Amino acid sequence: MVVDSHRDAASKQPVALSYLAGLGVNPATAVDVVVATHWHDDHVRGLSRVLAAAPNARFVASGAWEGKQFLRVVEYMRQRSFRTAAQRDQLILADAGRPSGVGEMGAVLDRLQSRGQRPVWALEDRLIWPRTDAPRAPVTVTAVAPSDDTVLRSQAAFAELRRELPLIDAIPLPKPNDCSLALWVRTPHLAVLLGGDLVDVPNDAGRGWSAVVDASTTAPGLVSMFKLAHHGAKSGDNEIAWDILTSMDGCVAAMTAFTSQKDPLPTNEDRQRILGRTDEAYAAGTRIIEIDTESPRGRVVARRRRKRQAETGQVRLRRPLDAPAGTPWEVTCSGNAGRLSVT
Ligand SMILES: [Zn+2]
Repeated sequence: MVVDSHRDAASKQPVALSYLAGLGVNPATAVDVVVATHWHDDHVRGLSRVLAAAPNARFVASGAWEGKQFLRVVEYMRQRSFRTAAQRDQLILADAGRPSGVGEMGAVLDRLQSRGQRPVWALEDRLIWPRTDAPRAPVTVTAVAPSDDTVLRSQAAFAELRRELPLIDAIPLPKPNDCSLALWVRTPHLAVLLGGDLVDVPNDAGRGWSAVVDASTTAPGLVSMFKLAHHGAKSGDNEIAWDILTSMDGCVAAMTAFTSQKDPLPTNEDRQRILGRTDEAYAAGTRIIEIDTESPRGRVVARRRRKRQAETGQVRLRRPLDAPAGTPWEVTCSGNAGRLSVT
């Protein structure tokens, strides 16, 4: 299963494909499921290429996008952003800023259509893997978000949005992080919680992390590894979810930094909060370097400027499937990744 996609700044390759190639694993036969947690650019860049490399995979997206309203919105925005398919594809490859998550999602939907497939819409308590007709597997993956309430609200918001489409440049509603899916991976002895960018919705038990805690699928005390939601930010954090769901034996936290804003995530405050809960926290992409770039202006003048950039890094957590509870995860960090620390 490949969840979300990031393209390496140097190689332009989706990192999941480079990783699998490094292991000698062929995605064409090994990848059963490709998941988009939500359509933010930092989660979907290169996803259409991942899907292209995995012709046997099913594509799973948040159920909060389901329905004609969402597809019409995507189609409308594509028509407006890109005059021709070639221009669109070129822009997606060139990472020109303009091709939003909508463009990438459009490319994914095109590919599915050419295969005669439809997305699998993830909803709370829906089994994602294995397929229901497959023999019982030792590992199951079940969606635990979006909740029913979230789906209803987003469909109403998409219907509203269609009326405003001619006036806007980007899709403002519903907020993609509200719609993010989250996955519960159950093995014989533990659970792994992949939080996407799902945000907490305070005082609303029917949405966000409160709904995950209440889902039929989740069970207390089982989560041994938690891919923290929303880059470790406070907005994706729910203390009760952590307290109830994580294992008594301890829980490893992992996250990817978000560096495209003035105060990158996780902030120092986030780091303190996370390290107050677990000693075992790891993050990828936290170190930001400044590089000199030359951007040609016209034919003659080249303008030098400093650009902030985070190189790709990787946190790898491994554990034998049949290892009893309490067995530590084998943690390997490479590139721009390492143990989370307070700066
Ligand atoms: Zn994100």
